[in-house]
Amino acid sequence: MEKIKMTTPLVEMDGDEMTRIIWQLVKDKLILPYVDLKTEYYDLGLLNRNATKDQVTIDSANAALKYGVAVKCATITPNKQRMEEYPELTEQWKSPNGTIRSIMGGTVFRTPITVDFVKPSVRSWKKPITIARHAYGDVYKAVDLETDEPGECFLTFKGESGLEVTVSVAKVNDRAVWLGQHNLEGSIRNFAKACFQYAIDLKQDLWFSSKDTISKVYDGEFKAIFEEEFKNYKDKFEELGITYFYTLIDDAIARTIRSEGGYIWACKNYDGDVMSDMISTAFGSLAMMTSVLVTPNGEYEYEAAHGTVTKHYYKHLNGETTSTNPVATIFAWSGALRKRGELDNIPALGEFSDRLEKAVFDTLYAGIMTGDLARLAEMDKPITVATTEEFIDAIAERM
Ligand code: NAP
Ligand code: MG
Repeated sequence: MEKIKMTTPLVEMDGDEMTRIIWQLVKDKLILPYVDLKTEYYDLGLLNRNATKDQVTIDSANAALKYGVAVKCATITPNKQRMEEYPELTEQWKSPNGTIRSIMGGTVFRTPITVDFVKPSVRSWKKPITIARHAYGDVYKAVDLETDEPGECFLTFKGESGLEVTVSVAKVNDRAVWLGQHNLEGSIRNFAKACFQYAIDLKQDLWFSSKDTISKVYDGEFKAIFEEEFKNYKDKFEELGITYFYTLIDDAIARTIRSEGGYIWACKNYDGDVMSDMISTAFGSLAMMTSVLVTPNGEYEYEAAHGTVTKHYYKHLNGETTSTNPVATIFAWSGALRKRGELDNIPALGEFSDRLEKAVFDTLYAGIMTGDLARLAEMDKPITVATTEEFIDAIAERM
């Protein structure tokens, strides 16, 4: 078989621990035999981030902006314990995902990969629900204050022009706690654009929810910006037969529980934090969740939603067998290659990605899966719990 040729490199961001092992296996056994893979490789493994003083992370994010599509392996975000584990670290480097997001901008969309033998906790769900979380501001960039005597609290804005606006928050006779939060028009607008763009990519309906009946100015601004931006995407939505609709957060939750799934739900920062955990847990396994960062200009970074699976890595280092689920990592690759194919007009890359994903599903439906899924699976045939390698080999066989 002749290998599929690529024209533009994919930005490849390698990572840490068990996912780094899986990364190599997926490339060697599932991709390289079929694709003349062209990547610009960045080693985001912790030791190389340390050696380059994290410059490699910055370079990889800039490359993602230059070429438009990246695929990322999970990486360690060092904490105190990691500083002890890796004494050579000269600094407690920041989260690579945070650094990449701050350079690329954009919104993270998380989607479960569903199989019908893992029943979601919500019986009506038949298709995946994608959560888009606004990742700037609100309570995550708020200031708070506590006071313990009667008094009044004000919120004051001082403009550079000399403008000054003050509102009274409340007059109190008790101990009190206070919170000042903000958001930015540009950030909300980019969030809206990324959501509309991604709904078009996925050809799925888009919901956006907030609480503008109570928060008339603050949440009202989110609602208004979404409505304004939608005007630029309306024709494309009509052409694809998809809809945008706004509703209150409580109504969105009620509708979600009654729905069949198959749509994108855009959430404000806090709602997205909470709802993405609810959706991913209710669908089954973190190991079956993909994540893609989409910028308002249409650049993409694909990854698995889970971390580096440290516990499995230490078993692997001890020479024990592991049963780590590579599905989300494989889908990060297939998503990135499909997008590269779309942008470069190479249909063979898209077809390859479809075949790879089908081979994953064929393997799973044959009852061959890793331990995490086997624990959740309800099948009327015997289930084979495969090791990490056996599972990837079983997919390769079906390719
Ligand atoms: P984790 O790597 O997601 O793993 C937590 C647990 O979830 C595992 O111990 C395992 O449970 C299960 N699990 C996750 N992915 C799995 C898979 N593919 N197959 C089978 N089981 C899977 O989270 P963590 O242990 O909290 O974090 C480990 C490291 O990852 C940390 O250093 C963190 O900084 C990093 N991290 C990176 C990213 C990223 O790069 N995007 C995201 C999150 C965390 P059992 O042990 O019960 O089998
Ligand atoms: Mg959370």
